[in-house]
Amino acid sequence: MIDLRSDTVTRPTPGMLDAMMNAPVGDDVFNEDPSVNKLETFCAGLFGMESALFCPSGTMTNQIAIKTHTQPGDEVICEKLSHIYQYEGGGIAFNAGASVRLIDGDRGRITAEQVREAVNPDDIHRPVSTLVSLENTANRGGGSCYDFNDIQEIKVICLQNNMKLHLDGARLFNALVAKNETCRQYGQVFDTISICLSKGLGTPVGSVLLGPFDFIRKARRIRKVFGGGMRQAGYLAAAGLYALEHHVARLAEDHKHAQLLAETLQGKEFVGEILPVETNILLFEVKGRYTARELAARFREKGIMVIAISPTQIRMVFHLDISPDMVQQTIDAIHIL
Ligand SMILES: *Cc1c(COP(=O)(O)O)cnc(C)c1O
Repeated sequence: MIDLRSDTVTRPTPGMLDAMMNAPVGDDVFNEDPSVNKLETFCAGLFGMESALFCPSGTMTNQIAIKTHTQPGDEVICEKLSHIYQYEGGGIAFNAGASVRLIDGDRGRITAEQVREAVNPDDIHRPVSTLVSLENTANRGGGSCYDFNDIQEIKVICLQNNMKLHLDGARLFNALVAKNETCRQYGQVFDTISICLSKGLGTPVGSVLLGPFDFIRKARRIRKVFGGGMRQAGYLAAAGLYALEHHVARLAEDHKHAQLLAETLQGKEFVGEILPVETNILLFEVKGRYTARELAARFREKGIMVIAISPTQIRMVFHLDISPDMVQQTIDAIHIL
């Protein structure tokens, strides 16, 4: 099977398994796991941020960030298709008791002007706007990337309105590679950043939340409340360290594969709009003789797994476990669909 459903389906490589097997471990709830401590210190240094917290999932790092930044009744500003709103089970309401202001963005990205308009005035009737959350790359935007200037402009609005700025950077490394940007740039502009190790980077489990020392101290308490305090988590952290060393630069290959597939689909009579491919995600509209579900079923008959993310849209995601040979097989299959 060629599994293009998500970049979460990767299996650890032999090198990664080796690093995991040989990891020194301890009880991380006592702060005594050397591998977790090493990963947290490494990530904080990479972004030039004060502190970091290793968590089981990106949902947890985002939710801990939202809970730590807000008080119940506060309002979080984000794009309408953002993961924190659409795919975290209503966690903003459940975990933080916070309200949400949704912005209709451009392929998952919002502008400073939109944020400025979404900030509530200081009026006892209105929720207090305390947090802006961006997503880069934007998953439902088809892996779209922000221009760094636009992020800086949003930061200015945050500073003027006493709001914090959080980044859901589940696929931040894809954006960094695509746009030739650095972790440090992001560390300087965001108050907190969540990165996933289990997406394009190819580890089995784990995300890291980055932020100021005091913030991460509070976040560590919330992680415990959420049940995310893990014991000998160093086996997982070691996979993360290995991935950050070995699997970042190669993301460019996934981006090239997504681009090749977009070119193949272009002009096929069952393909409508293809969102511009900027990173490892390919989102396209299905039209004519197939619904998205039917086309996904046709792919499956040919040993290719894709996801129908809406009645009219299919998503393909490229990752570590998709070889150039598999890309060629997929291209050949499309020509005879
Ligand atoms: C995958 C993902 C997350 C986190 O998901 P988990 O499965 O909980 O690790 C967060 N944001 C975006 C945009 C994602 O794609």
